[in-house]
Amino acid sequence: LFGEALFLKNEPYIRAALRGEPQVFERTLVKADGTTGYTLARYIPDVENGNTRGFYVLVSDVTELKSTQIALEQRIQELDLLAATDALTGIANRRKFLERTREELARCKRYGTSLTFLMMDVDHFKAVNDTYGHDAGDQLLKILAMTMKDTLRATDTVGRLGGEEFGALLIEDSPKDVEVVARRLHEALRSACVLTERGQEICFTVSIGLADFEVGVNSAEDLMRRADTALYHAKRTGRNRICWYGECSTEPNRSDS
Ligand code: GH3
Ligand code: MG
Ligand code: MG
Repeated sequence: LFGEALFLKNEPYIRAALRGEPQVFERTLVKADGTTGYTLARYIPDVENGNTRGFYVLVSDVTELKSTQIALEQRIQELDLLAATDALTGIANRRKFLERTREELARCKRYGTSLTFLMMDVDHFKAVNDTYGHDAGDQLLKILAMTMKDTLRATDTVGRLGGEEFGALLIEDSPKDVEVVARRLHEALRSACVLTERGQEICFTVSIGLADFEVGVNSAEDLMRRADTALYHAKRTGRNRICWYGECSTEPNRSDS
């Protein structure tokens, strides 16, 4: 009835149905017009006094249902991405970034690897908005996020924590390597200027706070709080600089442009 090829495909279901076990399975098929269709097959054993006499076959076309389900799953994936993305810069938003921090922290605890939370804030950003307008400020934030992504490794997660505050998770071998990366980012941002619609060039600096995962850090929030404290020190000691948690160099800024 089935023909050889389809029989071989359905044989396991047929054998199971003949053992008295009801079967339900889906099949994809290419329709005559070339589109993909879906069927749902049911094999219902006909059992009498413990003996299976045969089985009933019920096949329904579930193409419409299946298409709706596939479209819905795609939409859910899109919405998940949207809920995790910062609308202005396209990088991870605060919620997603903290989720990633939790995951990385768990990985560090399990494998004893290192992790540094980098927190960064634009210096005197309010003045940029006030002088050049909110759109120019937005443009600056976009360029900042792009530069961050370009400068850091693909494995380093970046995110916008809110306003003009950004975070990065650095997975380097030693604090010295972290320092090199942080300085590279700091430098890259110093040269990342924004050109306004009126042709004005806005250059900016950032302050950076760094905190390592170490004894005393029990949660992502702990780690972020430490990076925030380090950032606060960087701001307090003159901005345009990098500070570690618990240790802030007193070396003067090169220029507070
Ligand atoms: P500091 O050096 O101490 O960080 O000074 P600051 O001026 O950068 O900091 P402050 O917190 O006083 O100002 C932050 C400004 O960022 C205020 C707010 O209007 C602006 N801001 C927050 N989110 C956005 C945004 O999405 N777009 C723009 N254009 N501005 C924003
Ligand atoms: Mg700021
Ligand atoms: Mg701020």
